[in-house]
Amino acid sequence: MANEIIESISFRCVVAANAFYWLISTIVLHIDSLVAKNKSPWLKQYKIKPNHYISGKERRDLIMLSAFNMLMVAPLISVPLFEILWDRVHGNFRLSENDTWVWEIELLQKIPIQILVTEVGFYTIHIIMHSSPLLYKHVHKIHHRFQAPTAMACVYAHPLEFLLGNLLPIYMGPILTNAHPFTSYFWFVVAMVGTCKGHSGYKIFGHADYHEEHHYYYKYNYGGMYILDFLFGTMRL
Ligand SMILES: [Zn+2]
Ligand SMILES: [Zn+2]
Repeated sequence: MANEIIESISFRCVVAANAFYWLISTIVLHIDSLVAKNKSPWLKQYKIKPNHYISGKERRDLIMLSAFNMLMVAPLISVPLFEILWDRVHGNFRLSENDTWVWEIELLQKIPIQILVTEVGFYTIHIIMHSSPLLYKHVHKIHHRFQAPTAMACVYAHPLEFLLGNLLPIYMGPILTNAHPFTSYFWFVVAMVGTCKGHSGYKIFGHADYHEEHHYYYKYNYGGMYILDFLFGTMRL
């Protein structure tokens, strides 16, 4: 059973996401400490909220809960659950690493569908958590602890929210499109880099990230990108 999990596509997706998550978030935490101590005026000019910094206690809590989600919930709970779902949906037609990776189908057809599926899933679950006082108070409020987040805070969430609100929408794209394993690894890395960017706290290519505004104003920018917020009038740039 343990071998099956370790050799599964979902496990490799989680490993790839973990590698990029820890690399990016550790670099951003280091930049945060340089900027907080005024050791880099050049980097400080890019900080979106230059007067907001994470305290020592907040940093410890951040590392503990994020590590729990990334190193326990993702590999030990999400991998077996989504492997079963993936097998149930596609059975013997599920693609393996030995199958040919057809770039026209994987990149031009499946990836756009995965983006849409993830956006619909993330937006829907996110707006439900803001609409229900009970869910907000007991679940989603944890993720909103940081009004000016840092990259590591992208997975700082109640484990239930991490599983259903973050991982489920990301898994659903490859599962529904029966993505090739290489596409799935790529997709998890893209999703992880995107959410680290969204929570980095810095202007990248000259502008503040869309999701940073959600952490500050709460009732705007529920999506991971512009599509559904634009359609439903919840966008704030
Ligand atoms: Zn967030
Ligand atoms: Zn929220």
